[in-house]
Formats: sequence, C-alpha cells, structure tokens
Amino acid sequence: MKREIEDKIFKQFKNLFPKGRNANPKKSAMNYGFCCDDGWVSLIWELCAKLENLKVPITIVQIKQKFGMIRCYVNPIESPIAKQAFKLINETELKSSKICEKCGNHGKLHQEGYMKTLCDKCYKLHLQRFTPRQRKLIKNYLTKK
Ligand SMILES: [Zn+2]
Repeated sequence: MKREIEDKIFKQFKNLFPKGRNANPKKSAMNYGFCCDDGWVSLIWELCAKLENLKVPITIVQIKQKFGMIRCYVNPIESPIAKQAFKLINETELKSSKICEKCGNHGKLHQEGYMKTLCDKCYKLHLQRFTPRQRKLIKNYLTKK
C-alpha cells in the first residue's frame, strides 16, 4: 500500500495504531505497513472506524493479504466486546473476497498462480506478468477443473 495512504490511516485511528509504523517489531508487524494493495483502503478504513466505535482497548498488529483475502490481527482482547470485534474482522475478511485488491471495484477471488481477489480488468493486467508458457499452464489448470 502507498505510504501516504498508510499514514492517513495511522493518523486517523491513533487508538488502533498507537505508534503507527514505529510499533515495536517484536509485538507488531505494522512497521511493514499494510501488506496489501490500495483497492482495500475503504474496507480497512470502515473496519477501523467500527473497531474504534466499540471503545475497547484494541490495537491492530498486522493487516495483510493472505490466500487472496484480507487478514487483520489484533492484540489479545479481554473484554466482553471482543466477540463483536472479531465479528467485524471476519465480516471484513469475507467482504475482501469480492473487492478488487488493486482498484477497489467489484472483484472475485482468483485461485490460480497465487490467490488474489481482482476485477476482470486488473486480472487481465495481472496475467500479463506471466510468460506465455506460464499462461498456458494456468489455462490448462483452469480448464481441468
Ligand atoms: Zn481492479
């Protein structure tokens, strides 16, 4: 994710990211920033706003893409509201499988090569990264299903 976008999120949600990207690397992966593409910004923003509204001491220690979907890890929460926080996080993860990680348009989870949620346009661009031989292998793989 672009650094200036990350900084905006850190600045807006100081409770969730108390030290921004200067978090202790032994306790948090936030010094790597948000390890996903910019298309998920609104999704992350929405999740952060909802988590802050819960008014529980919760900090986010990692946000990344895994198996084509967003993953959000938080510090352990000991509060009756923890369940609500995890519900919000799970909902966000599910939503991310329908939002293009590159551009934020409607997308779908592609499972070939490595898993990534993309819209049709970004998927075409994504495939250009592969050599013709790799593309042929992908095509074969897909038609076998
Ligand atoms: Zn896209």
